[in-house]
Amino acid sequence: MEGLQSFGSITSQGFSGSIITPFSSSYQSTIQRFSTTCILKPAVIVEPATANDISIALKFALGLTRYHIPVPEIAVKGGGVNSAPGVSSTNNGVVFDLAKMKSAKVSPDKKSITVAGGALWSDVYAEADKQGVVVVGGSVHLVGVGGSTLAAGYSPLSGQYGLAIDNMLSAQVVLASGQVINTDEKHEPDLFWAIRGGVNQFGIVTQMTFATHPFPGPITVGSLGYLGTDLPKVLAALHPTLLILPYIEEQKTKPDTVLAPFRTLAKPIFESIFTVNNFTSVSHGADSSITNQPPRVTTNGALISDVWDDTVTSVYQEWLKFTEDPEFQATISMWEFSHRDKIASKPAGSTAFAARSPHYYWTVTARHTNPSNDRKVSDWTSNLAKSVRQAQVKKTGKSLPLPASFAQTPQTVSTQDIYGDNLPKLRKLKARYDPSKVWRTGWVIDPDHS
Ligand SMILES: Cc1cc2nc3c(=O)[nH]c(=O)nc-3n(C[C@H](O)[C@H](O)[C@H](O)COP(=O)(O)OP(=O)(O)OC[C@H]3O[C@@H](n4cnc5c(N)ncnc54)[C@H](O)[C@@H]3O)c2cc1C
Repeated sequence: MEGLQSFGSITSQGFSGSIITPFSSSYQSTIQRFSTTCILKPAVIVEPATANDISIALKFALGLTRYHIPVPEIAVKGGGVNSAPGVSSTNNGVVFDLAKMKSAKVSPDKKSITVAGGALWSDVYAEADKQGVVVVGGSVHLVGVGGSTLAAGYSPLSGQYGLAIDNMLSAQVVLASGQVINTDEKHEPDLFWAIRGGVNQFGIVTQMTFATHPFPGPITVGSLGYLGTDLPKVLAALHPTLLILPYIEEQKTKPDTVLAPFRTLAKPIFESIFTVNNFTSVSHGADSSITNQPPRVTTNGALISDVWDDTVTSVYQEWLKFTEDPEFQATISMWEFSHRDKIASKPAGSTAFAARSPHYYWTVTARHTNPSNDRKVSDWTSNLAKSVRQAQVKKTGKSLPLPASFAQTPQTVSTQDIYGDNLPKLRKLKARYDPSKVWRTGWVIDPDHS
């Protein structure tokens, strides 16, 4: 047995997960991703059941040089919804697919929840709902906890409690050396700092513990739709409140007050506002706009310091033109206007995710079907996102970093754009934790060995 074909031999070393190759019956289903643009063809897929499994398989992969074959490219898949090709898969290399590691358990005192590295937010909310607590996590059930949190982790609860990384209490990480490390503010604090924004660049995060918060009671969610020609009126309604749907705690009084300008200054052509009694339902609020949509997905985005009418309007005009073509009609441009202060209350530099001045975020998610349009879609999303980032610089004199979870590809968004002012420190830490760049998919940090 030689090279990658010999991966199966690790079961004799105590490996308890699964090894999938192109000859396995589950290969085709396992290489699927949320966006079909991200389906690649790895030579081996490792599905670990434990951190120790990762350690065993990783040491084996890195030891392949003994067969005089180069170290394979190694990719890590959490929820698999990131739409940058090559970020969570690889051609001919090895994928660590964390699909078997999905557990979520609230602590006996209900103050925290411990989540395995491959869990989706649906796994977390199912457990949290049962225990009457909420967790600062993604707005949609199918998103991976790993990829969203380790980039920053924006949540419907961010206005109140900050980002997912701000609520992370500890983590377990398998380093490039195969060593399994438990880290928090006191233990390996540099590693704890680096994974909170450094995504997959420091190791495979096999476990995360987050603070929980009491379930606030009924939550009002839903949507209001307007004619596009009413955009100026919607913007006028937005300004005095700086709060927009779909997440408002409480059932009646507060939602009515918050929504009043959105019903009077601008008249919705439809309203679908309802009350839900758990966070699982919150995370299913956008299902109709996500499922059964064209399979090729391209995402990009920008953080912005304020709501600028001219920027919002020009993005809207671009989106209008682009979606005239039925092939691109499912494309969504989304502005998130949660309260900004909580995220900004953390000092700059307190986590590897560098954006700590008050900000909102915007994302564009283009969806299409025909691969021959990939280039057109890629150029359009990239140029649109650049225009929003340029507006940020023009209006404030400073750029804001972009979490890797919202960025299009490493070809269209630079490593400097992702890590911002924290890049020099991240490069030093990369030299300590991953000196030979075992983790080299996504926004790769070059080790600074000086
Ligand atoms: C419908 C939808 C809704 C979304 N909503 C939100 C939202 O509310 N808030 C938000 O912040 N983002 C949101 N996002 C963006 C989302 O956070 C990113 O797409 C994110 O990268 C997805 O993570 P994943 O684990 O599912 O993806 P993957 O494609 O599996 O991974 C993405 C990256 O994270 C790395 N990674 C994943 N897990 C681990 C791990 N355990 N250890 C080390 N590296 C890991 C991978 O190697 C890869 O580099 C949304 C995306 C979609 C499609």
